[in-house]
Amino acid sequence: MARKILTEHIHVPGIETFDVYRKQGGYTAVEKAIKSMSPEEVVEEAKKSGVRGRGGAGFPMGMKWGFLAKPEGVPRYLVCNADESEPGTFKDHYLMKTIPHLLIEGMIVSSFALGANKSFIYVRGELMYVIRILEKAIEEAKAKGFLGKNILGSGYDLELVVQPGGGAYICGEETALLESLEGKRGNPRNKPPFPAVKGLYQCPTVVNNVESISNMPWIVNNGGEAYAQIGIGRSTGTKLISASGHIQRPGVYEIELGLSVEEFMNSDEYCGGIRKGHHLKALVAGGSSVPILPANLIMKTANGEDRLMSYESLSDGGFASGTMLGSGGFIVFDETACIVKNTWNFSQFYHHESCGQCSPCREGTGWMEKVLHRIEHGHGSMHDVDLLVDITKKIEGNTICPLGDAASWPVASAIRHFRDEFVWHITHPSEATAPGAAYRGDMALV
Ligand code: SF4
Repeated sequence: MARKILTEHIHVPGIETFDVYRKQGGYTAVEKAIKSMSPEEVVEEAKKSGVRGRGGAGFPMGMKWGFLAKPEGVPRYLVCNADESEPGTFKDHYLMKTIPHLLIEGMIVSSFALGANKSFIYVRGELMYVIRILEKAIEEAKAKGFLGKNILGSGYDLELVVQPGGGAYICGEETALLESLEGKRGNPRNKPPFPAVKGLYQCPTVVNNVESISNMPWIVNNGGEAYAQIGIGRSTGTKLISASGHIQRPGVYEIELGLSVEEFMNSDEYCGGIRKGHHLKALVAGGSSVPILPANLIMKTANGEDRLMSYESLSDGGFASGTMLGSGGFIVFDETACIVKNTWNFSQFYHHESCGQCSPCREGTGWMEKVLHRIEHGHGSMHDVDLLVDITKKIEGNTICPLGDAASWPVASAIRHFRDEFVWHITHPSEATAPGAAYRGDMALV
């Protein structure tokens, strides 16, 4: 069995309560950090661990903490991004609802490290029951002296606030999240200034993902170097993967980074293989915004090496033949899936979620959705395929926030790897629009 950092105790009955969590060694990291370490030492352990942001960007968390401005007399904030809304990604939701004290403990040690006395957990607004679970856990921790004034008699104060999100995907972009947290419409900000300098209420702020922060209790207890021994290369530690689609065992799995994609896909410990009687067609490895890969590039890189579940291996070959680990939303498609329909589906989502501030995203996502709609519904022309590619190029890199890229990459990669399928939809409209139709090389599967 692979090592578990986040989910080791997740199946212990009652682990959502303070007492059971404490019996499993919970809150020892708070005791250790507050009683025997300086904030700088905790930051140093985070840096040594090499843990990278688990929300999708993969930026080293310790380095991000190092950018935090520290002007005198100005409060600093830690904000946990729990607005998880990327299609295909549901691991933060799982972690918060099953073992809420892990995140609370991570928030306490991280806030201590950053010198924050008021911190926030911004939770996707639809997850009201998770918000109640977290609020209950905070009350329990407060009653035991781990939150509030003078934590464990140390003189360190921390108020932890759970904030329901604004109900939009874009509120997961860190500056949009801060706008929403301030009570405004969740529009991404122009950067610079970055949140580390001017974040919440124009004060220095760190925004980290749920899973990233939940690693901190283990890192404080065991040391950053021990964490860095797990995983492979610069992909240190473990990663939660949300596995869905045409597999035997969908669910959330904690893997050690560096596991082969083949083992993750086929082992009974994880996905358990493709559903019976079918075969692999395509994979979205890191949530709906990352490039889709065809079957021949999933298990092996273009160089013939085993493809691994790591930031580096999944992106090997760049966008020509690779993809990204992203948020770990692992969506598997067998041969019955229609790539055009799926791409249209994703494009509807991004068009709907565009905040509308920048023209390439506001207009481009709508154009992509319309062109994909007509191809999917049998009214496309050959010109439409190149038109789609052209639109993706006009959006990518030309927007305020990454949603533009996130909307472009699924379309560009689907055409790059499955152009024949788009062409078949255009040249065989009546077959392609038949219920359940999917392209299978030289023939339609109905
Ligand atoms: Fe808004 Fe899209 Fe521009 Fe982001 S890229 S700021 S979502 S319009």
